[in-house]
Amino acid sequence: MGGEHQVVILGAGMSGLCMAIKLQKAGIDDFIIIEKQPGLGGTWWDTRYPGAHVDVPAPVYSFSFAPNPLWSRRFAAAPEIQRYMRRLAEEHGLLGKIRFATTLTSARFDDGLWHFETAGGDVLQAPFFVCSTGPLSQLRWPDIPGLDGFTSRRLHSARWDATLATPGQRVAVIGTGSTASQLIAPLARDAARLHVFQRTANWVLPRADRLYGPLDRALMRLPGYATLVRAGLSRVMELGRRGFEEGSLARRVMLKTAARHRARQVVDPSLRAKLTPTYPLGCKRIIYSNDFYPALSQPNVELVTDAIDRITPTGIVTADGQHRDIDLLVCATGFDTVHLLASLTITGPGGQTLADAWVDGPQAFHGTTVAGFPNMFLMLGPNTATGHTSTLLYIEPAADHAIACMQAVRAGGHRFIAVKPAVMRAHNEGLQQRLAGSVWSQCRSWYRAGTEGNGRIVAIFPGFTREYVKAVRRPRLAEDYEFDKAAEEIA
Ligand code: NAP
Repeated sequence: MGGEHQVVILGAGMSGLCMAIKLQKAGIDDFIIIEKQPGLGGTWWDTRYPGAHVDVPAPVYSFSFAPNPLWSRRFAAAPEIQRYMRRLAEEHGLLGKIRFATTLTSARFDDGLWHFETAGGDVLQAPFFVCSTGPLSQLRWPDIPGLDGFTSRRLHSARWDATLATPGQRVAVIGTGSTASQLIAPLARDAARLHVFQRTANWVLPRADRLYGPLDRALMRLPGYATLVRAGLSRVMELGRRGFEEGSLARRVMLKTAARHRARQVVDPSLRAKLTPTYPLGCKRIIYSNDFYPALSQPNVELVTDAIDRITPTGIVTADGQHRDIDLLVCATGFDTVHLLASLTITGPGGQTLADAWVDGPQAFHGTTVAGFPNMFLMLGPNTATGHTSTLLYIEPAADHAIACMQAVRAGGHRFIAVKPAVMRAHNEGLQQRLAGSVWSQCRSWYRAGTEGNGRIVAIFPGFTREYVKAVRRPRLAEDYEFDKAAEEIA
């Protein structure tokens, strides 16, 4: 491998693909994508557990420049998303530009260039560095005594083994978040016994799913139709943002719908009580599911709400002293969203590492640029997650922002660009002021830093999508950025 390129992109997921396609459109063809997995997809490469599907309508889970007429249903299953990504990569000739099974270990900015090293010992350089690994790439295992001593099969939901056979097995799932809510129904169908360990009951709303028939697919091929559908669904989802505001009509409707859904689907009052959330709706990601509650009501399924005390070589012991024997332990315990990019050492021109800069949790300017780290652009960086709509709506403007910055460097005859530290500071103070007292400050979640998930809110964007798009798509270069500032001045 090795050599010099214009741009090095880390991660071949949705945001890496978007960046690559937009770079091509901007006439920047000399880029390379580094991907640690052996295949395309990023988070979607990892999302292979049974029942995995996109949790927003699929037409909004496609790029504005690449509508997909082939979705078979509104909430498409993971393999369909993987096919969509593959098609995009093929159509744009990207496969040859991706170095699969390659792990980047370090990136150091020196003398106007980023210098990279891979685990295999290759070195490469580029003036621009795009980190498109997103927040959902580093597994989080539960911090439970005895986990490593479990002698039967154990896996994380984001490392599913397709050869795994669950029929007749005694299975335990730890976690009841978005991932668990999708995989519990398929597991419940096969397993002899399924124990679901719930620490927090989540909000569950019905999933307005439907099959797309031949007529839908024919219409989707008409010019403009797919764009219209995407725009319509985006608007509807944008209304959902209102649901995070106390007292709003949208929130009242969502609360009523959740209560009705629970009452209809969970007949047993004691089970229903266990599944009734005690934190404000929206504080964690809302689950949209029609089969989660029915699965938990099956006779072979047990919802365990006693705290887990420890894991033994053969099972799990809860605080009441009960030991449940299990053959397969599934940890659907999410991702480390706080130590972003911790798998490589990123060093700015002043010698400061990104880990040091983010010692109190990650922060950036609009989730894209970080003071002290010139010519580096994050995709889905800090405070860009959304609880109400598709993350792709946030990826596109961030890619436009990064490319506009790169073009400004080139057009102005500069060597590098960095966000002004004072601008980034003010931006984050503003964000935190908005987030303080918001619904997201009222529970533990992966949106927050701190060992208990109760620190600064580092993942979620508090506003409407249109606000983010307007602020980010075109950078205010003169106001917010500075060019060729010496290391000691920008650090
Ligand atoms: P998550 O939302 O962080 O859920 C992790 C679950 O594990 C929670 O129920 C958590 O309980 C539990 N847990 C963690 N540590 C535990 C411990 N030590 N003991 C007991 N329980 C523990 O992770 P996720 O479900 O993987 O979802 C993460 C994000 O991925 C979602 O919010 C969504 O944005 C995305 N996602 C998308 C899709 C899709 O579109 N297809 C599918 C899945 C996920 P607490 O709530 O008490 O912390």
